[in-house]
Amino acid sequence: MERRARERLTRAILLPLVLSAVVILGTFTVRTSLQVESLRQQSIAAVTLELAREKADRLDQRLIDEDNVVASVADPTHLGALEERWLPTARRETPTVRAIVVLDEARNVLAFASRAGGAFSEEEAFRRLLIHRMLADMELVREPVSELRHLHRQYRGQVYLVSYWQRAHQGRNILVIAWHDIARIVRDLFGSVFSERSDVRVSVVDEEGRVVFGSPLRTGYFTVSVRFPTTLYGWRLQVLPQGSEALTDRVNRRLRELILVGASGAILVLGGAILLFVTERERRLSAMKSDLVANVSHELKTPLSLIRMFAEMLESGTARSEEKKKEYLRIILTESERLSALIENVLDFARLERKDNPLAFAERRLDELVKDVVETVRSRAQREGVSVLFEADPGLPEVRVDPAAVELAAGNLVDNAIKYGAGSGPLEVAVRRRGGTLVVSVKDHGPGIPVSDHARIFERFVRLRSEERGKVRGAGIGLALVKQVAEAHGGKAWVESRVGEGSTFSFSIPLAPRS
Ligand code: ADP
Repeated sequence: MERRARERLTRAILLPLVLSAVVILGTFTVRTSLQVESLRQQSIAAVTLELAREKADRLDQRLIDEDNVVASVADPTHLGALEERWLPTARRETPTVRAIVVLDEARNVLAFASRAGGAFSEEEAFRRLLIHRMLADMELVREPVSELRHLHRQYRGQVYLVSYWQRAHQGRNILVIAWHDIARIVRDLFGSVFSERSDVRVSVVDEEGRVVFGSPLRTGYFTVSVRFPTTLYGWRLQVLPQGSEALTDRVNRRLRELILVGASGAILVLGGAILLFVTERERRLSAMKSDLVANVSHELKTPLSLIRMFAEMLESGTARSEEKKKEYLRIILTESERLSALIENVLDFARLERKDNPLAFAERRLDELVKDVVETVRSRAQREGVSVLFEADPGLPEVRVDPAAVELAAGNLVDNAIKYGAGSGPLEVAVRRRGGTLVVSVKDHGPGIPVSDHARIFERFVRLRSEERGKVRGAGIGLALVKQVAEAHGGKAWVESRVGEGSTFSFSIPLAPRS
């Protein structure tokens, strides 16, 4: 008993505990790994972003530095000497500025200086483009504040970057424009600013995503893309940490590993649950077997010892009168009948339980089968002082049944009614038509059964252990057998009963067999 309790404790507490621990452990491991991985990724992304911003700012600053030089040489008071003031130092101090133009409000060119010389047609084309197209796109104000601005735009399929300021000079509103050479910016400036660090790969793309500098980058989780804040604002700088492909592969591998861990955990839990289920079923099966052995051997012992005792008494000549001898023989007969009924019950129960022995169906009248059962037990019932009434609806049709099984089921119900309801009025056995079924019912006036036990008593080996029934013998398989027989025919078995009001046990057989 103590061992059983311990085993139950193990099953009920320890195994669920272990499984919960596995689930908790697995969840935390997966979650922590994911968090660590995501933090790592975030920090890599943050560092890369910082780097990208810094590079974009630096490039901006280099261009603005050149613009500042232009601003100082294009001094409105010395406009006539623009070329002399700028060109000697232009290559060194403003390497990307191709030309400087100074306009008045009426769009007259006050001064023009170009590193390529003033006569080139490209220069002329730029001046026209500036006056007819670019000015309209600039943010020009009436009251000049000398603020540096940039225009980065495509005209006639070519990209331009110009820096411009508005200045007030002797009551006039002057516009200074520096034309930056995009090709030179890309070749020289990008080259020097972006190729400093070898642990990142850099590229610059235009508005349509075309690569203007560097080689195309595989855009993925680690690719960072930022705009140039002031100067080349139409373009984007893309930065990818070196070896990020390997990093992405590692992330994917880690994800696969985590999925594997999760799946293993799930398998473990499932396995545990199946194990729990199987051991529980195994335990119930073995408990059932020992219950069967205990019940049946107990049931066999009683009639056998009675038979033996009375046979011995007859043999030793203890019974002198003929009447006594007859009585002893009658007891021997009754007990052996009971014995064979029990053995038959056990065998049929086992047969139905195994489900490997199909029923032997035949078209028979159910009321006639049940009537035969009633006639068989009638004499025994009378001996026990119970009268048995039988009633059937007229004109019942034949049904497809296993006659032996149905007789066994009806016999068990009648037997129970005699055993438990003896001495409390007549038994009423009936076969009636109810919708599409025939219902066999056995009503007694015995002690009745509490409603809470109605379902339970149809289970195998369940016997109610109330005081009055303590004396009544049984193995607890009769009602289970009735249920099995009913269900094997596509019907069901049930009881209507209240304590003190007798019981009506019934089972149904469908008129039309299930297809
Ligand atoms: P057994 O009769 O061998 O104990 P059954 O499966 O036939 O097994 O019945 C299960 C239990 O149901 C019985 O032990 C008894 O407690 C209860 N029972 C069955 N039939 C009746 C009845 N007619 N009246 C009261 N109790 C009953």
